[in-house]
Amino acid sequence: MPGFTVAIVGRPNVGKSTLFNRLLEQRKAIVDDVSGVTRDRQYGLADWNGKTFNVIDTGGFVSRSEDVFEREIRKQVKIAMEEANALIFMVDVTTGITDLDADVADLLRRSSKPVYLAVNKVDNHERQLEAAEFYSMGFENIYFLSSMSGSGTGELLDDLTALIPEDDQANPGEEENIPKIAIIGQPNVGKSSLLNALIGEERNIVSDIAGTTRDTIHTRYKLFQKDFILIDTAGIRRKAKVHEDLEFYSVIRAIKALDEADICLLLLDAEKGIAGQDLSIFSLAARKGKGVVILVNKWDLVDKETNTARDYEKVLKQRLAPFTDVPIIFGSVIEKQRIFKAIETALEVYDNRQRKIQTSKLNEVMLKAIDAYRPPVVRGTAIKIKYVTQLPTHTPAFAFFANLPDDIKTPYRNYLENKLRENFNFQGVPVRIYFRKK
Ligand code: GDP
Ligand code: GDP
Repeated sequence: MPGFTVAIVGRPNVGKSTLFNRLLEQRKAIVDDVSGVTRDRQYGLADWNGKTFNVIDTGGFVSRSEDVFEREIRKQVKIAMEEANALIFMVDVTTGITDLDADVADLLRRSSKPVYLAVNKVDNHERQLEAAEFYSMGFENIYFLSSMSGSGTGELLDDLTALIPEDDQANPGEEENIPKIAIIGQPNVGKSSLLNALIGEERNIVSDIAGTTRDTIHTRYKLFQKDFILIDTAGIRRKAKVHEDLEFYSVIRAIKALDEADICLLLLDAEKGIAGQDLSIFSLAARKGKGVVILVNKWDLVDKETNTARDYEKVLKQRLAPFTDVPIIFGSVIEKQRIFKAIETALEVYDNRQRKIQTSKLNEVMLKAIDAYRPPVVRGTAIKIKYVTQLPTHTPAFAFFANLPDDIKTPYRNYLENKLRENFNFQGVPVRIYFRKK
């Protein structure tokens, strides 16, 4: 099961976002700023003891009337119950069990997903005693913690991450060796149109009517003598009507599609350019080690002068920095321009992601590059990199063996990455670099 998602639910001010921030540490969250009753929802990638998982902070609510307030919270909890693999239900020891807590608990008791009751703000021993009240809620997994100080969060995370299989990608099943491409982009960029154009019929919509319960739809194709699977999130529409909550779905589904894919084909609207949300998805894809291709769609709507594509690409790459070695394709789904090119490129990126460089060749090229531009001297000692090897991981990673591995800084790391990219084709693929003691 690729990708594991944990949602934090509970009424406002219990400390959900404090816990969320603690789980993410310095990492960047994706924020969808929904206007209206909800406060920002946040999405992020956390890791604990080497296991990574998606976290959703379901946000708070700006209370208007009690009615709206309760309805919104119920809605939020229901969506979280559908979408997440596990739920953290947070309550606050300083207020005790409120009516709203009891309400949420009723909903959660019906959940088939594991629920972890987190009694927050247990900052000291006295509060530990008061917290015993929450046993009466009847949840088996109960934790007393302080999101602020972090005390008690370790036990919760140990138990939660025990649910995640050891290697997320260890058992991908029958689809194992077929490239999987996720079609991702904001509403209205042309995702469905692209799928329909590729499939040559309204199949996408048919499966929607059939009422698939899958979060994402996998469709197998054969083009250019190659098998591949497109993953899309077409299910969004039908469900969104029920919940009137398109934004929430589209982000969660995009993250799921990413988790299931090897490559992300990120669609942009040429007229709108790249938005914050797109950049967040882009950097999430990179952090998850996925390949990326960008398709700037609706290019037919753009007035073209001599250098438009080149200029557009330049501006786009400034936004993508530091990961700029990414193929960018300008196309039009409506006019069927360059859509096959986009798929072909995604398949090339798939190959790049699988690329294994022979150790002898790698050392020949990289030691020469290191010789031409040496790492700086630290505390009077020259840093020497003696050997490099590619690690046997499913996304390209390299270990450089050095006398002082901890003293090699980001600019030099970037130099090495650039040299790897210049000499070997890793276009569209995030490359990981580690320094180890020789
Ligand atoms: P949310 O609305 O559920 O996301 O709650 P927030 O994370 O915004 O927290 C609400 C308030 O509770 C803030 O003022 C936090 O500083 C505070 N808070 C969060 N966790 C703790 C905790 O463990 N102990 C104490 N004393 N305060 C906390
Ligand atoms: P989705 O929400 O990402 O699935 O987007 P759709 O495929 O439903 O497309 C949204 C709208 O954009 C529809 O009206 C499409 O006809 C239109 N559209 C899609 N691709 C193109 C394109 O290349 N050029 C133009 N001009 N319109 C497009």
